[in-house]
Amino acid sequence: MTKPATPATEPDHKTSNFLRQIIENDLYKGTYASRRWAGSPGDAAHHASGQPDPAKIRTRFPPEPNGYLHVGHAKSICINFGLAQEYGGVCHLRFDDTNPEKEDTEYVNSIIDAVKWLGFSWSQPGNDKAYQASDYFDFMYRAAEALIEAGYAYVDEQTAEEMRTNRGDFGKPGVNSPFRTRTVEENLARLREMRDGKLDDGAAVLRAKIDMASPNINLRDPAIYRIRRATHHNTGDTWCIYPMYTFAHPIEDALEQITHSICTLEFEDQRPFYDWLMERLCECKLLAAPSPKQYEFARLNLTYVITSKRKLAQLVAEGKVNGWDDPRMPTIVGLRRRGYTPESLRLFADRIGVTKSDSWIDYSTLEGCLREDLEEKAHRGMAVLNPVKLVLTNWDEVFSPGHLEACSQPALPHSDESTLVPERHFTLGKEVWIERDDYEDVPPKGYKRLFPGNKVRLKGGYVIECTSAHRDASGTITEVLATLIPDTKSGTPGSNSVKASAAITWVGVADGVQAEVRMYDRLFLDPQPDAGGKDFLENLNPNSLKVITAFVEPSLANAAVDQKFQFERHGYFVADRLDHVAGLNPVFNFAVGLKDSWGK
Ligand code: ATP
Ligand code: MG
Repeated sequence: MTKPATPATEPDHKTSNFLRQIIENDLYKGTYASRRWAGSPGDAAHHASGQPDPAKIRTRFPPEPNGYLHVGHAKSICINFGLAQEYGGVCHLRFDDTNPEKEDTEYVNSIIDAVKWLGFSWSQPGNDKAYQASDYFDFMYRAAEALIEAGYAYVDEQTAEEMRTNRGDFGKPGVNSPFRTRTVEENLARLREMRDGKLDDGAAVLRAKIDMASPNINLRDPAIYRIRRATHHNTGDTWCIYPMYTFAHPIEDALEQITHSICTLEFEDQRPFYDWLMERLCECKLLAAPSPKQYEFARLNLTYVITSKRKLAQLVAEGKVNGWDDPRMPTIVGLRRRGYTPESLRLFADRIGVTKSDSWIDYSTLEGCLREDLEEKAHRGMAVLNPVKLVLTNWDEVFSPGHLEACSQPALPHSDESTLVPERHFTLGKEVWIERDDYEDVPPKGYKRLFPGNKVRLKGGYVIECTSAHRDASGTITEVLATLIPDTKSGTPGSNSVKASAAITWVGVADGVQAEVRMYDRLFLDPQPDAGGKDFLENLNPNSLKVITAFVEPSLANAAVDQKFQFERHGYFVADRLDHVAGLNPVFNFAVGLKDSWGK
């Protein structure tokens, strides 16, 4: 299991938030000190046979394996695993796979990868496996029968329509179902018939018997089991009844001895049912007190980003992007392919913090975290993204025809004497690639780069003086001409005796390598692409991807897959995980600009 690296930028002391306060308070009061842990999830009897729980707290990250995780999940992962790490606890990875239809092992594997890649681990003494909620189906069924026996549940056979009408609404109390007064025996028999496939899908549901007049609609006898003939990826056709999420989730937490069950705010109204169920099942002695408690935090809303697996799946299915790991996707695999590092995402989670009210985080906050992380560690390199050829017309006289002058530059800018700074090597020859917009016939005001009569430095090379440019019949510049000024090579004595008005980046024609560079921009034009029921497919940015052919210096062409760079003057780029082949087929993805240009 990978041990999480501490991000260099992590603050020394964590700022407090309401979750830390709750946990610290529980640890201080010993709320969970009496818990036992039998080494695996289980009921009250199982844990009673175990040791006092060595984990001070237990949290969990419970994704439904029905899609790839996104940046919102990254926040939840950082919160849950982060808190467990901080307080001597364990965070469980649990696949919430109680819904038979949507799950897929492809998603299961991608979730495992994502959590590990972010630098977290769910392993604990004696257990390296992630948990699956579907492993608890037997217990859940037992719990359902126990609730019936205690008079807390009944089988309802109203039609869906009748149930909806009789539930009432915010202003109107519900009406009791005619099936609500069934005897325990009748309910048990009926539930068993549901389980044994004697009833059609939708013909009956098991409901908790709470209060049809409750002001909280979630307490108006919520459904806890339904009939659904569907093959489950784990349990196959063993079951034709499946528990509802609101029933399953608290039970999953309790079987795993979770202490702090942290979820997003939309579950706030479910908390009373969570507590109700925990109390009833403790009363029935199926579960051991103290029960887990649910706490809600605000989900991540990020501008220009969609954080709904369903909608992201739609983008993939309709071919609006090239798969879940398209670098424009806010999925963890997409962000990773875009050049995001685990450190940058953890920094982001830290920086946005945990709150109890919904808000929108500006996309530039996420980008800032990546920039901050890469600033110190990404090697520098020169790439020409919009190339035009520059010819040094006096080259043959100053050197000799065909001569290549060896040049080098530090790969990292911040050097002090104690650290060995890696060097990049490249050559200067008679012809080099420069950026097309680094030349102007007539310089606009303030323009300091190439125009006839002006001197600039080829970064890491010589000072040159521009003389003219050639154009083709359509007026497009085909070549810029300049002369090299001898004895001005960077790093040699007296190299600064000739003043250059700017330093421009370049790549030698002789050793530069052609590279595919994928310039990404925001996927949506609207900062809140799906807010208020907007059709997010209507505001896709048609220019979110531009593929260009660039020239890069040898150190970039030979990049390792996934290696991040600062292309000088251009921003941060990553060697594409899938398509880049060092030396042979360099492919780079634009990760983030040098400065915050978002929304400008
Ligand atoms: P989606 O609507 O994208 O499918 P979900 O909440 O249904 O999201 P789950 O797989 O159930 O996805 O989520 C696993 C965990 O991640 C949950 O605890 C959930 O609260 C959390 N989570 C999901 N989306 C966000 C978000 N945008 N911000 C923070 N946490 C999130
Ligand atoms: Mg969900």
